[in-house]
Amino acid sequence: MPVYDYRCCECEEVFEVRRSMSESDKAAVCPTCHGEKTVRIYSAPNVVGGTQQHQHSSGGGCAGCAGASCSTCRN
Ligand SMILES: [Zn+2]
Repeated sequence: MPVYDYRCCECEEVFEVRRSMSESDKAAVCPTCHGEKTVRIYSAPNVVGGTQQHQHSSGGGCAGCAGASCSTCRN
């Protein structure tokens, strides 16, 4: 069963959840704050040249959506 990465929009915890592919798009529950405002992180296996976009936490949004326009996490 594949493992997916999720990021919590409440406490910014990044965690992994092992679940079936049919459940991969469902929100996971944060293991730290038990919040359900989480987004899946689509990690690119071929990241080259330091262009990871997972760590942009200064925008106030969710890193799973490039930090600015997250319809799921935006308050
Ligand atoms: Zn959390």
